[in-house]
Amino acid sequence: MDAIINKTKIVLLSGDITEQETEAIVNAANPTLMGGGGVDGAIHSKGGPEILGECKLIRQTLWPGGIATGEAVATTGGRLKAKKVIHTVGPVWGGGDKGEDRLLSNAYKNSLALAVEMGIKTISFPSISTGAYGYPVEKASRIALRAVMDFLGNNEGIREVRFVLHSSHDLRTYEKTLTELM
Ligand code: ADP
Repeated sequence: MDAIINKTKIVLLSGDITEQETEAIVNAANPTLMGGGGVDGAIHSKGGPEILGECKLIRQTLWPGGIATGEAVATTGGRLKAKKVIHTVGPVWGGGDKGEDRLLSNAYKNSLALAVEMGIKTISFPSISTGAYGYPVEKASRIALRAVMDFLGNNEGIREVRFVLHSSHDLRTYEKTLTELM
């Protein structure tokens, strides 16, 4: 499913984010930036050790205590088709009264802001926080799509935003939400 927001195409598809040929893909990382399971594990294993090398450098220089929730940093894409990986950290779901919505929205907006800063025009997102971090996917889809639409309404430079959903259930959920928001 596609939509156009302020000249930018939003695409929802089901698939594997590590196979996307957008200029950047976004990683749902954890604060250590040292890799993990889920989409993080898939990106590091397909992208190779150069990504982890740059993550270590970022820890040493910018974020010695670990990256804050909602922030984003960029590394090479290593052996991936994407030139860059943008690593962001979504919130762990804690019931909804711990600022989760704002933090999840920040993860999307800060990733997009970093992409614009780097001159990136096409970017793929996974469904941040809805795996190990336990965010209900219906709620997360609303925050994610609103954050992206809001960002695109206020910023130029991005040509295409893809959401690469890992299951057909997640794809249907995002499609339903996008239809409601348009
Ligand atoms: P988080 O810790 O932010 O919840 P996870 O990686 O556990 O991150 O899950 C986030 C989402 O990414 C989940 O919906 C999961 O199914 C999905 N996912 C896992 N592997 C991939 C992949 N290769 N491509 C796209 N999405 C993926």
